[in-house]
Amino acid sequence: MNFKKIEVFGFKSFADRKKVEFQEGITGIVGPNGCGKSNVADAVRWVLGEQSAKALRGKSMQDVIFNGTARRKPMSYSEVSLYFDNSRKLFANLDYEEVKITRKLFRSGESEYYINDIQCRLMDIQDMIRNTGLGKDGYSIIGQGRVTELIDAKPENRRNIFEDAAGISTHKKRKKEAQSKLERVESNLQRLEDIIAELDRQSADARKFLQLRDELKDLEINEYIYQYENSEELKRKVREVLDGIEEQLSLQRAQYADADKQYSRKMAELSNTDVYMSRLRDELTALAVAAESIKGAGITLSERMSHLTSSRA
Ligand code: ATP
Ligand code: MG
Repeated sequence: MNFKKIEVFGFKSFADRKKVEFQEGITGIVGPNGCGKSNVADAVRWVLGEQSAKALRGKSMQDVIFNGTARRKPMSYSEVSLYFDNSRKLFANLDYEEVKITRKLFRSGESEYYINDIQCRLMDIQDMIRNTGLGKDGYSIIGQGRVTELIDAKPENRRNIFEDAAGISTHKKRKKEAQSKLERVESNLQRLEDIIAELDRQSADARKFLQLRDELKDLEINEYIYQYENSEELKRKVREVLDGIEEQLSLQRAQYADADKQYSRKMAELSNTDVYMSRLRDELTALAVAAESIKGAGITLSERMSHLTSSRA
C-alpha cells in the first residue's frame, strides 16, 4: 500500500479535521448509512485531481465544501491531504520518505495545490502521479453502485471491473501509449526514410549535374578552340582574296599610268601636227600667191611677145 493516511478538513461531511490511516492489508471504515464512508473515497478521488463534480456525486465542485448542518456553520474552504510512503521511491524525483499532496478549494472557486506544503499547479500533481502510474484511473475506486454491477455483470464485463481494480488498466493504458509511441516512431522512421530517399535522389541529381557541367565545360572549350581555328582559317582566306585584289589594283594602276603617259604623248604629237599643218597651209598660200604673180607676169610677157611679134611683122 502506497497510501499512509488521508486528512480531510471541510470536505463534504467532515467539518472537523479528520484523518484515516491506512495500514498494511485491508483498512475498513464502518458506520451507519450516511455517516460519510463514501465521502472518504470521494476525498481520495478529489485529492488525486478529479475534475468532474458528478464523479464526486455533486452538481458543482463547490459542493465538496462542508455546507453546514443545523448545528454548524458552513465552511469557507475544503482541504484534503493524502500521504504517500515514498521510502521505495514511488516518486523517484522526490527525495523524501513521505510525500504529501494537498488540494484546497475556496467557495470563490479558487483552487490551490501543494506537494509537501509547497504550492504547485494541478498539472504538477497530475504529472507526478501519472509518472508513477497511480493516477485517479490507476487506483480503482469501486463505488457503491458498482458492487451490484459486479454481481450482476456478465463474466467478460466483470473481467473489465477486476482489471480496473487490479490496475491492469494502467498497464493496458501504458501499453496503448507505448504502442502509439511506437507507431509515431515508426511513422517518423518512415518519414526519415522518405527524407533519406529524397536526399539520395537529390544527391544523384547533384552528381549528374556536376557531370553534365563538366561535359558542358569541355564542349564549350572545344567549341571555342574550333571557332578560334576556324576564324584563323577564314581570316587567312579573306587575306588571300584581299591580296589578290590589291595585286590587281596595282596592276590596273600601272596600266592606267602607262595609258596616261601614252595619251600625253599622243596629245603632244597631235599639237605638233597642228603646228606643222598650219605652216604647210601658210606655205601653200604663199605658193598660191607666187603662182598667181608668176601667172600675171607670164600673161604680161606673152602680151609683150605678141606685140613684139606683130610689130616685127
Ligand atoms: P451509505 O452507507 O448510505 O453509503 P455513506 O456512509 O457512504 O452512506 P456518504 O454518501 O459518504 O455516506 O455521505 C453522505 C452524507 O454526506 C450525507 O449526510 C450528506 O448530507 C453529507 N454531505 C455530502 N456533501 C456535504 C457537504 N457539502 N456538506 C455537508 N454534508 C455533506
Ligand atoms: Mg456510501
